[in-house]
Amino acid sequence: PGSMRALHKDYRTVTPQNFSNYESMKQDFKLEIPEYFNFAKDVLDQWTSMEKAGKKPSNPAFWWTNGNGEEVRWSFEELGSLSRKFANILTEACGLQRGDRVILLLPRIPEWWLANIACLRTGYTPAQGSRACKPDSHNNPRCSRGACHHGAPSGDMSNNSNACSRRHQRLQRHKQHASDNHTCVKTKHNEMMAIFFTSGTSGYPKMTGHTHSSFGLGLSINGRFWLDLTPLDVMWNTSDTGWAKSAWSSVFSPWIQGACVFAHYLPRFEPTSILQTLSKFPITVFCSAPTAYRMLVQNDKASYKFKSLKHCVSAGEPINPEVTEQWRNRTGLDIYEGYGQTETVLICGNFKGMKIKPGSMGKPSPAFDVKILDVNGNVLPPGKEGDIGIRVRPNRPLGLFTHYIDNPTKTASTLRGNFYITGDRGYMDEDGYFWFVSRADDIILSSGYRIGPFEVESALIEHPAVAESAVVSSPDPIRGEVVKAFIVLNPDYKSHDQEQLKKEIQEHVKRNTAPYKYPRKVEFIQELPKTISGKIKRNELRKKEWETI
Ligand code: ATP
Ligand code: MG
Repeated sequence: PGSMRALHKDYRTVTPQNFSNYESMKQDFKLEIPEYFNFAKDVLDQWTSMEKAGKKPSNPAFWWTNGNGEEVRWSFEELGSLSRKFANILTEACGLQRGDRVILLLPRIPEWWLANIACLRTGYTPAQGSRACKPDSHNNPRCSRGACHHGAPSGDMSNNSNACSRRHQRLQRHKQHASDNHTCVKTKHNEMMAIFFTSGTSGYPKMTGHTHSSFGLGLSINGRFWLDLTPLDVMWNTSDTGWAKSAWSSVFSPWIQGACVFAHYLPRFEPTSILQTLSKFPITVFCSAPTAYRMLVQNDKASYKFKSLKHCVSAGEPINPEVTEQWRNRTGLDIYEGYGQTETVLICGNFKGMKIKPGSMGKPSPAFDVKILDVNGNVLPPGKEGDIGIRVRPNRPLGLFTHYIDNPTKTASTLRGNFYITGDRGYMDEDGYFWFVSRADDIILSSGYRIGPFEVESALIEHPAVAESAVVSSPDPIRGEVVKAFIVLNPDYKSHDQEQLKKEIQEHVKRNTAPYKYPRKVEFIQELPKTISGKIKRNELRKKEWETI
């Protein structure tokens, strides 16, 4: 099968991708793009054949637990058969046609994976809804009610356990009677595969279109090079089903590599159940968000014993070097940070075998030509801060979205000269490592200085009183704007003299970053505003600051 060969030089024996250096990794990266490509047929069904022929380790393809003793384990063959049944259910019970948009609103239950594969097999375009999804998302879904997700188009589904179990029972009935005889549609590699909502960190989420090859082939970058996966691995990514991140790390990247996708129902994020799960199951690769790692290292001061864990990654926000260090102290493992967007596959990453520079996002993924740009789209030299861009001319690379759905103006606004502009600021050092400074809209301009909140937040979290913080601009009559820190205190410090603590923390930041970056204003708060995926919504805090003047 050509497409499998496109992914793996020798697709029967996918060897551990532990590259000794970045250059050899880049050389190894060559993807042929076949004219027709469908992940279900060209990747999943090929793993089924290899499984049947005994050419793949006996790892399951999918391993799910609800945390209360209930487990589901499927081989690639079972995944194939059940997803074909699901494809027939979607077609027969919902009366859908190829190209129809289907909103997928399910918590982390096995049917979410089946529904995704069923959409690939039928050519329906899933729009991944989050738990916060409201019915007015302009998405013209053909099947936002009914058998696809059995009611409840909005609201927090994970708390709605009765509705959830009713849906589940109806699906089970359908599954018993449905046939698993289904022929996968033939899809062009550049046909629309799915729509993903961005996280909505700085406004309404944007609907982002990806083709069959974009994620189906492009995410091999993530699977091979960043996640370091092989068919022997068991990969657990904790992100919720609504986000591109779950397509990245709970569907495409692991299955491209023939690895086992591990999933936990996890209705709410509880550090203890994460730690228990990592101890109990043979999970080898773990992916979570920085906010989750922050909670994990705070939860338990003891060292952890995870018998199988060998590789940890984080993405979605910058991870504070302090948290990485604490995690290493407890587990003996580094956190390999990756940087990307709903609009892309991995843009930069720390790859296995490469020296990690704490605080850096690593080096560009071999899929993209990543550059730091000035306002005119000129490439800036090492050390200069600018906009992070991806070259799109003469060729738009594999792994980049096609467009924002129904929003040509927004799509056009991301282009500058030969580049797609990510909306993030950063710089590249002399060794070719990329450093994230800030989302462009989070930059603070104070007395002529440009200050990125992340550096200040990373200095803040090194102080023992600080559990987490968000740094934003605040109006100031003399300086125009100044740095303000919203701080959540560690419980032990809540009863301390707040004025005294404030001064101590300010002094601490002055000592640990350039003094002009210290927060002139400090406010202690109980909780930071975050997206459902756990990202800090600095724009909300900033808006409040500026509204009051
Ligand atoms: P919206 O576009 O709706 O405002 P969002 O940009 O947060 O939300 P996502 O596509 O989920 O939506 O997130 C991508 C963004 O997350 C990146 O543009 C970047 O700002 C941030 N990000 C992701 N990984 C990292 C990382 N390793 N370091 C720093 N920032 C990161
Ligand atoms: Mg964004």
